[in-house]
Amino acid sequence: MIRIAVVGAGMAGLVCARRLQQGGYGVQVFEKSRGLGGRVATRRLTDTCADHGLRYVASQGEWTDRLILPLRQQGILHPWIANSGNPSAVETDRFIAPNGMASVAKWLAEGLTIARHHRVLTIAPQPDRTWSLTIETATATPSIGDFSVVVLAIPAPQAVPLVAPLVTQGLPEPFLVGLEAIEFAPCLTAIAQYRQERTPAFAAAPQAVSMTDSPSLAWLSLENSKRPSSHPIVVVQSTAAFAEEFLEATDLQPIGMQLLQLATDTLGFDFTDPELLQVHRWRYAFPRHTGQVSWLATQYPLPLLCCGDWCGGDRLETALDSGIKTAEQIHHWLSRHPLPPIDW
Ligand SMILES: Cc1cc2nc3c(=O)[nH]c(=O)nc-3n(C[C@H](O)[C@H](O)[C@H](O)COP(=O)(O)OP(=O)(O)OC[C@H]3O[C@@H](n4cnc5c(N)ncnc54)[C@H](O)[C@@H]3O)c2cc1C
Repeated sequence: MIRIAVVGAGMAGLVCARRLQQGGYGVQVFEKSRGLGGRVATRRLTDTCADHGLRYVASQGEWTDRLILPLRQQGILHPWIANSGNPSAVETDRFIAPNGMASVAKWLAEGLTIARHHRVLTIAPQPDRTWSLTIETATATPSIGDFSVVVLAIPAPQAVPLVAPLVTQGLPEPFLVGLEAIEFAPCLTAIAQYRQERTPAFAAAPQAVSMTDSPSLAWLSLENSKRPSSHPIVVVQSTAAFAEEFLEATDLQPIGMQLLQLATDTLGFDFTDPELLQVHRWRYAFPRHTGQVSWLATQYPLPLLCCGDWCGGDRLETALDSGIKTAEQIHHWLSRHPLPPIDW
């Protein structure tokens, strides 16, 4: 069986791996984190959870539509009924997961072989024309080999250090130049939990707000409008400009407090004084300069492809599109038979 390594268990990596597995390839996914989904991320809290990455799933094109359908049928996604400060709640075309957005990734990961806590440090061609990967795990740094193809389903800036050493081994320089051209914008996300006694007051809080005019704030959601919680839970996402200013701060707590104060000033509702506050640093949140193609591919020194949302866009639809098209490109190289229809 042809073995293929997929680096990264975000949405692009998961759909790519799924599609390749459907084609009969032996697929091994490596993910550096404990969780699956990458930027489709959920933080577990005492009796609930909060989405600190992807805010919701919306119809953005063919692949999000094809994902929403079975996920709704299986009760993993529900329509999000939320208000944006007006008294009436409206059902929108946004979908949320009561168990957290990461449950979408878990669903896609079913049946795949995924090594978590496995950060790929190097990829190197071997004399027998297979790839060998050096992996960092909690206990060791093994080399795992025998892969005919490697897919890097990770943000382009994270792929650059893996790819750059290959230029001396035959990798075409334009491939590396293409990767280096992609820039990402950061984001800081505050996850705030408030005392239970404040629950009645939060009934009047805006539940889902995009702040397109704010220099510092991009988004606020009341996570209780997505799922039950004994405490009010709020997620605030910063703009890239705000995140760039504070990205390297050693203590993010005051920065999170600042985001809550700004939300209070902007929206006229008191989001200050949380009982718990966590701040997540997204160094690679949104592609800024995106690629023009759905994937980057080379056969030199051995078959290597890069995919992700940065391949032609900056959001979920592009991540799915890029992952699927990458799998199809690999199959095109390796087989004359068509891939079976997508099973989701
Ligand atoms: C705060 C925030 C809000 C967002 N909101 C929305 C939204 O509302 N709508 C929308 O459409 N999109 C949104 N997005 C963007 C969306 O989440 C992404 O476009 C999409 O999830 C990208 O998927 P991906 O697979 O390309 O990359 P990622 O999700 O980044 O996946 C890459 C994976 O690779 C892993 N990895 C990296 N390096 C290595 C390595 N060396 N070894 C092993 N594993 C590695 C990472 O841990 C990660 O799991 C948001 C993003 C953020 C950060």
